[in-house]
Amino acid sequence: MAYHLSAAKLQTYDRCPQAYYFRYERGLRNAPFYSSASLGTALHQALAQIYRDWHYQDPIPELEWIETCWAQQVQDLTPEQILEGRTILRRYYDLFILNRSSMRQPIAVEGKIQATLQVENIEFVLSGRYDRLDALEDGLELIDYKSSKTVEERSPTDINLQLGLYYLALEQRYLQQLQQLTLIYLRSGEQIRFKVTLDHKQQVYRTISDLAVRLRTDENWQPTPGDQCSQCGYARYCPAMQSRPDPLPEEAKPAPQLQLTLGLEL
Ligand code: SF4
Repeated sequence: MAYHLSAAKLQTYDRCPQAYYFRYERGLRNAPFYSSASLGTALHQALAQIYRDWHYQDPIPELEWIETCWAQQVQDLTPEQILEGRTILRRYYDLFILNRSSMRQPIAVEGKIQATLQVENIEFVLSGRYDRLDALEDGLELIDYKSSKTVEERSPTDINLQLGLYYLALEQRYLQQLQQLTLIYLRSGEQIRFKVTLDHKQQVYRTISDLAVRLRTDENWQPTPGDQCSQCGYARYCPAMQSRPDPLPEEAKPAPQLQLTLGLEL
């Protein structure tokens, strides 16, 4: 059985191997560094429908099409959220659809990608999700919608790992290179664009190699104290934070008993 990795897993590992161990090796649920919101989910689904279901016989849709798609995604929202979402999508329409000569049909929306990688005789399966994948003249562009109220502050390393993972996965799936990732902040209309290079792919490979060695040797999952500790849901169990850490709760998965050996599947 292969070992599954995602951008979130790699980013957690890079921030703190001890947090990675609690979350993914022992299965403790409190996500240390992430959160989600229902308005954001509805906005993502509406945008997916806007691009996926448009017939593309007309160059751009009327605003009515955006309203139709939004109306199909609001079942779980409060009246305030429905209004807020409509305002956000109207702004999106003005900025990214209305002022273009045509709405380009994406290669895919709300997609899932996977790639495999053999490191230290362990097969890793890298997987990720994206909001939209567009074709460029010389490669691919990933579009990621953000519904947060402010522009997220993400470390360059977090971004680089995400770019590298997508680079690897898309290269295997489409035999084309990822050229850029564009983040679109839906509330402000701001766009942030990252160029993707071979260095990103190599950085992911180095991080996975480091993880592979730790998995194979069952080496101590070293805590890495830093700014992230103030948001970490595992501080009570962490030997770097507590002189007498709490024992892990009963629902924790048993500690892995077997070290990986050559040829042994994980
Ligand atoms: S509290 Fe800090 S050092 Fe401990 S697991 Fe969490 S992030 Fe790592």
